[in-house]
Amino acid sequence: MPLLEVQGVSKSFSGIVALRNVELGVEEGEILGLVGPNGAGKSTLINVISGIYRPDGGRVLFDGRDITGMPPHRICHLGITRTFQNVETFPELTALENVLVGALFGKNASSGEEALERALEMLRFVGFPMGRLEERVRNLNVGELKKLQLARALATEPRLLLLDEVTTGLNPKESKDAVRMIRKIRDSGITILMVEHIMRIIMGVSDRIVVLNYGEKIAEGTPREVASDPRVIESYLGEAYSFEG
Ligand code: ADP
Ligand code: MG
Repeated sequence: MPLLEVQGVSKSFSGIVALRNVELGVEEGEILGLVGPNGAGKSTLINVISGIYRPDGGRVLFDGRDITGMPPHRICHLGITRTFQNVETFPELTALENVLVGALFGKNASSGEEALERALEMLRFVGFPMGRLEERVRNLNVGELKKLQLARALATEPRLLLLDEVTTGLNPKESKDAVRMIRKIRDSGITILMVEHIMRIIMGVSDRIVVLNYGEKIAEGTPREVASDPRVIESYLGEAYSFEG
C-alpha cells in the first residue's frame, strides 16, 4: 500500500479545470517527482493534499486513512508537511522563531525546550547560517529563506514532505546543494513528493516521475521512461528551456 494515494482528484476554479481525475501513489521511502509546464496543476495538487483546497471530486488517502477535506493543521499532525512555491513565512519573526513555530505545532507538539532543540537541529541540518538566527525573516535572501522553509517543515517531524519548486529562484550552485539536501532528507527516512518544472533537476533526483499537463496525468515512470515519452516532449514544446534548466 502506498503511503499517499491520490484517487481521481479533480479541482476547478470558476470554470478553469486545474486537475482532472488525477491518480497517483507515493511509496514509503521514495522521491516522487511531479513535473509539468506552468499551469499544469502541480501546486493545486499540493494544495489539495495538504488541505488548503478541498477537491471537487476524488479522495486523498494517507497511510490508508481518508484525509480528503481535513484542515491543514490536522493533516500536518498526521505527518504531512509542505513548503510553498512562493516562500511563506512570518516576516516579522526571527529565523529561529519561524522554525520554532514548526517545532511547537507539528506532529509531536513538544515542550518549549524540546522545540528549541528540534528547531536548532533542523536549522543546522539544512545548512542555515547560524549567525543569522536572530535576523528578522524579511531581511533574509532567497537561499536563506528556502533553507528556513525547509527547516520549519522538518521541525514538524513529517513522514511525507511535499516540496513545491524548492530550487526556483536559486542559482546553479544553490540548486545543486538543494538537490543534495533533498536526498539527505529522504535518507533520513522521510518520503518526498517534489514538484519542479525544470526537467533536468527532477530527472536527477527522482525515483519515479509523474507528468501533469493541463490538469491531467499524461505520463508516469522512471526518469528515463518519462523523458523519452513523446507526449511529455510535446507538452514541453515552447518550454524547451525547462529541459536545460
Ligand atoms: P502549476 O503549479 O503547475 O504551475 P497551478 O496548480 O498553480 O499550476 O495552476 C493550475 C491552473 O489553475 C492554472 O490555470 C491556474 O491559473 C489555476 N489556479 C490555481 N490556483 C487558482 C486559484 N486559487 N484561483 C483561480 N485559479 C487558480
Ligand atoms: Mg506551481
